[in-house]
Amino acid sequence: MGKTIAIAGAGHGGLIAGARLAAQGYDVTVYERKKDRAALGYDWEDAVDFKIFAECGLEPPKKETYSFNGDMKYYNPNLKAPLAVLSHGTGSAVFERKEIYDVLMDNAEQSGVKFVWGVEILGPVTDGLRVTGFQTTAGVVCADLVIDSAGINTPLRKNLPVCCNVDRDYGYGECFYAYRAYFNKIPGHEPDIPYEIFLMHQGERGISWTVTKEDYVDVLIGRLAPMSQKKIEDTLAEMRDFSPQIGETLLRGGSQEQLPVRRPLSVMVCDGYAAIGDAAYMTLPMTGSGICAAMRAGVLLADTVLADKDEVYSKETLWDYNRKYILHFGQHFAAIDILKNIMLCTEVEGVNFLFDKGIITQSDISFGTSKDSGGMSFSDMLARGMRGISNLPVLMRTAGALTKGGGVKKLYQSIPSTYDEKAVLKWKDEILAATPLMIR
Ligand SMILES: Cc1cc2nc3c(=O)[nH]c(=O)nc-3n(C[C@H](O)[C@H](O)[C@H](O)COP(=O)(O)OP(=O)(O)OC[C@H]3O[C@@H](n4cnc5c(N)ncnc54)[C@H](O)[C@@H]3O)c2cc1C
Repeated sequence: MGKTIAIAGAGHGGLIAGARLAAQGYDVTVYERKKDRAALGYDWEDAVDFKIFAECGLEPPKKETYSFNGDMKYYNPNLKAPLAVLSHGTGSAVFERKEIYDVLMDNAEQSGVKFVWGVEILGPVTDGLRVTGFQTTAGVVCADLVIDSAGINTPLRKNLPVCCNVDRDYGYGECFYAYRAYFNKIPGHEPDIPYEIFLMHQGERGISWTVTKEDYVDVLIGRLAPMSQKKIEDTLAEMRDFSPQIGETLLRGGSQEQLPVRRPLSVMVCDGYAAIGDAAYMTLPMTGSGICAAMRAGVLLADTVLADKDEVYSKETLWDYNRKYILHFGQHFAAIDILKNIMLCTEVEGVNFLFDKGIITQSDISFGTSKDSGGMSFSDMLARGMRGISNLPVLMRTAGALTKGGGVKKLYQSIPSTYDEKAVLKWKDEILAATPLMIR
C-alpha cells in the first residue's frame, strides 16, 4: 500500500485528486461532516464548462440531466441601461449539483478512495512546521499528506502555524454571502432574456439574479455581509416589484451560503499540506464559479504528488502544484479580482455612469470561466474615455484599477520556479502590497 493521504472535506478538487492517487495505489481516505454521499452539495443547479468532465477523464452526467445557459442581461443599479450578453450557443452547461457529485463520487469510490462520514474536522495536527494530520470529533487522523478540501472556512487553513506562510483568513470584500432559492413562477411576466443579473443591486455592494425558467424562478441575492432573514425577505419583496414572475412559494433551496470572491492563495502548500478548491479561494472572483477550477487543480495536485518519487510531500515538492495552478489559472483570476473590486468600490452613481455612457460594454462583462477571460483592458478604456469625459474622476479611477489588474497578473506570473523561502516570501509580500483589502 502506498503512502497515506487524508482528505479533509469531500470538496470537488479533493475528490478528483484523491481518485487519481487511489488509482495509483495510495491509501486515500476522505473525512466529511455530512452524514452520507447523498447529503453532499446543494439543492440547486450550477453552471460549469462542459469540457471539464473530459479534461478529468470522466463521463459527464447523462444528457437528460443538463441544459445550457443562454443569453444574459446585466443591469446597472438604476436599471436604466441594461447590457445584453449573447451566448451565441457557447453558454456553460447547467447541471444539478447532486449530479456533478454523483460523477465525482462514483469515480472516487471505484478508484478505491475510502470515506468516513459524519466527522467534524477541528484543526491541524503539526510536528514543528509539518502538518502530520488533523483533529476530528472522532479522534486524531495521521497522514503523510493532508489535502485540505473543506471549503472556504476550513479549520485546517485557519489554524496553520503562521510560519507555514499560508494566509489563514480572508478579509472584507473577499467572501460573498449568497441566498439562493427557487420560487414558483407567476405566469404572464416573461422577461425577454431569462437570465437577469443585477450589479450593485439596490445600491448595495453585491449582485442578485433571477433566472426565469419554464415553471420556476431561480433567485440569488449575494452581498458582502451576512443577511438577516428580514433583510432577505425585504430584498425579495423589492425584487418582486421589478420581476413580478417571482412567486411566494419556496420550491427548493432557501439557504444562505458563503463563497470566496478573491484572488487565489498565493502560497497554498506547506510541509505535508496542500489546499484546494474554495479552501485555496480558487473561484472566479466576479461570479464565484469554482467547480471547474477545483477539479482542474485536482489533476495538477495528483500529478505533482505522483511525481514526488521520494514521497516527501514537502513545500518544496508540492510547489510545482502551487506554481502550475497560479500560472495556468490563478493569474487570470487575480486580474478579474481587481475588476470586481472596482465594481464594488465605485459609488452607485459611478457604476450607473459607466453603463449609461457605454464605457462598460457587453464584452467587458462576459466573464467566462475560460482562463483567458480577463475583462476590460486599459487601452479599451482609454478609447472609450471620450464618452466619459464628463465624469473624469470615475473614469480615471476605473482606468487606474484596470492598469493595476495587469500589474497584479504580471506579479502572479513571476512566481518563483522553486520553493526558495526568501524568494517566495518576497513574491507573496509584493502581491499583498498590490492588492490592498477593501474598505468597509
Ligand atoms: C449560491 C452559490 C452558487 C454557486 N454557483 C456556482 C456555479 O454556478 N458554478 C460553479 O462553478 N461554482 C458555483 N459556486 C461555487 C462552488 O460551490 C465552489 O466553488 C465549489 O463547490 C468548490 O468548492 P469546494 O469543493 O472546494 O468546497 P465545498 O463545495 O465548500 O465543499 C467542502 C466540503 O467539505 C466539507 N466540510 C467543510 N468543513 C468541514 C469540517 N470542518 N469537517 C468536515 N467536513 C467539512 C463540506 O461539508 C463539503 O462537503 C456557487 C456557490 C454558491 C454558494
